Amino acid sequence: MKYFLTTAIDYVNSRPHLGTAYEKITADIIARYRRLAGYDTHFLMGNDEHSQNVFKRAQEQGKDPLAYCDEMERVFRDVWTRLDVSYDDFIRTTDRKRHFPATQKMAQACYDNGDIYEGSYEGWYCEGCEAFKPEKDLIEGKCPIHNTTPQWIKEKNWFFRLSKYQQPLLKLYAEQPSFIEPEVRRNEILRLVEGGLEDVSMSRAGQSWGIPVPFDPESVVYVWFDALINYAAAVGYGWDDELFAKWWPANLHIVGKDITRFHCVIWPAMLMSARLPLQGQVFGHGWVYFKGERMSKSLGNIVDPLDAANRFGPDPLRLYLAKEIPYGGDGDFTWERFEEKYNADLANNLGNLVNRVASMTERYQQGRIRAGGGGSLAAIASQAVAAYRTAMDGHALHDGAAAAFRLISAANNFIAETQPWSLAKDPAKAEQLNGALADTAEAVRIAATLLAPIMPSSATEILRRLGDDRPLKDRRFDADTTWRSSGEKQILNAGALWPRIEAEKGVSTVSAESPKPAEQPATQAGPAPAPGAPAAGAAAAAPVAPAAGAAPAAPVAPGAPVAPVAPVAPATITIDDFMKVELKAAKVLEAERMPKSQKLLKLKVDAGEAEPRTILAGIAESYEPEAMVGKTIVIVANLAPRKMMGIESNGMVLAASPDGGKAIVLNAEPATPGTRVR
Ligand SMILES: [Zn+2]
Repeated sequence: MKYFLTTAIDYVNSRPHLGTAYEKITADIIARYRRLAGYDTHFLMGNDEHSQNVFKRAQEQGKDPLAYCDEMERVFRDVWTRLDVSYDDFIRTTDRKRHFPATQKMAQACYDNGDIYEGSYEGWYCEGCEAFKPEKDLIEGKCPIHNTTPQWIKEKNWFFRLSKYQQPLLKLYAEQPSFIEPEVRRNEILRLVEGGLEDVSMSRAGQSWGIPVPFDPESVVYVWFDALINYAAAVGYGWDDELFAKWWPANLHIVGKDITRFHCVIWPAMLMSARLPLQGQVFGHGWVYFKGERMSKSLGNIVDPLDAANRFGPDPLRLYLAKEIPYGGDGDFTWERFEEKYNADLANNLGNLVNRVASMTERYQQGRIRAGGGGSLAAIASQAVAAYRTAMDGHALHDGAAAAFRLISAANNFIAETQPWSLAKDPAKAEQLNGALADTAEAVRIAATLLAPIMPSSATEILRRLGDDRPLKDRRFDADTTWRSSGEKQILNAGALWPRIEAEKGVSTVSAESPKPAEQPATQAGPAPAPGAPAAGAAAAAPVAPAAGAAPAAPVAPGAPVAPVAPVAPATITIDDFMKVELKAAKVLEAERMPKSQKLLKLKVDAGEAEPRTILAGIAESYEPEAMVGKTIVIVANLAPRKMMGIESNGMVLAASPDGGKAIVLNAEPATPGTRVR
């Protein structure tokens, strides 16, 4: 089965920004998914060059417009390559072999079928939009998008009889509800077409930059009419009938919500007029905002997608865009959120899981595992695979990504439950140990296969470490997402895939520096100290801090927690200050009393890391050790290690600590170990 999908083609008057990249990356995920699912896939992208803005931009730079477009093609293709966008074909509307004959053929066909007539146009024309603007759309006489005064233009134009297609289009939408997705776009278009359609200009007079109208060589085809034809032109329309028969109609056009109507109204009407089969579906995606604002040059808030790709490779950005923005809706990008998701999903969750499997397999079994029967994890994997498939077939990329990550979290939990490090201590449990490692590795293999369309090079690397180095193009969804209960794997332990992004290191925390009694520190309510650099630094130096070590004398906030904040600390902290404290959910694996201590329990906790960590917590007066085992609690994970009574404590347990009362450990059930708390 064939699957032909396209993105919008881009004006080349500026470099691609994150919004442009969003469309290409999400389309690429769909294309890669279709290839994995076994479709003969053709993925088309391109540049829209017959724009007056492009022409002007070239003139400003003193360049020949075609030479300028050649340069920009290299810029665009370079960005797409660096974002790992796997387009099969790239068309330019200045392509004389493909796009010129196709455009002229379609214009002629519409003309021959009586749908193009001569008229004259008079009205406001916005150069930025390259569109005529009805008076009612102007705000104080200006284009609301460009905030410029449009020109009054009167010229001879050829018109396309769009009005004739109102009823056929409504019939199309009714008979084929999936023609426009998502629902919100479909409703917009329905209302628009039900309100009646006006004929549209399909030519511009007196211009040289464009494709001559075949029945009036003095005019060029209007850029919008010209641009839409690229989808048919690329696959042979007007120049290779056999190729055209193979790929046309397109199964899916992916476009931004602002141009959905051109693709759902004008384009199918043009195809009807030219007696060609209609595309299968138009998907109108939303916009990516930056801190809640539309990215624009005038606001100076353009995000260059290569900034993210250069620092972390393309995959973390691809994952963020697919997973954090429900496909079809609008989303937001901020560097803070990007880094936070990177740490949570990649450093702590997936990257950690891969590391844990590899390092434990290496340590306990020389890197070899034999597949076993598959237990609870196999069932979770099969649910994740089914959910992923349904989501991806419906272009719900965010749900697809979430399904893969459910399996990853389940595998991390499975490690916490089976405790391979304990099994490894008992030679009689070798089979169980192998089984636990094998099931986890198999879950990772399936999750990596599901993530392959979203994070192609990372998935390839994970699969390679799991002993399978076939290229992605040789993998098939059904065969490669089925749980394997036989066979051996040689696992490669090759280090961290995604090192954590650390916020700039603040000065060390107040509590770490405070001369507190050995028995108290690891306890109690978060001295979640404000490591805001200047204040905490002052506290650490603290010539004027008589209270620094005297926790009981520190001011007590209303409510239980006691925060021994040094007097020079600011009254409030910023969210950035707060985010420097890495709070995580952790599951208590073991707990015991510290000999000779009334207050301290020694806990071994799983914080979703390669190894369990040891924390001394001053909660022994409130909790029996047995009561703590199995609880999921909240810890400060980035507290500097401290030695107490000869034992190194790595972190701190958070508890509400009423004055003179018993500590109440914070409960993070049912969060997965390693989940960030904030
Ligand atoms: Zn405008």
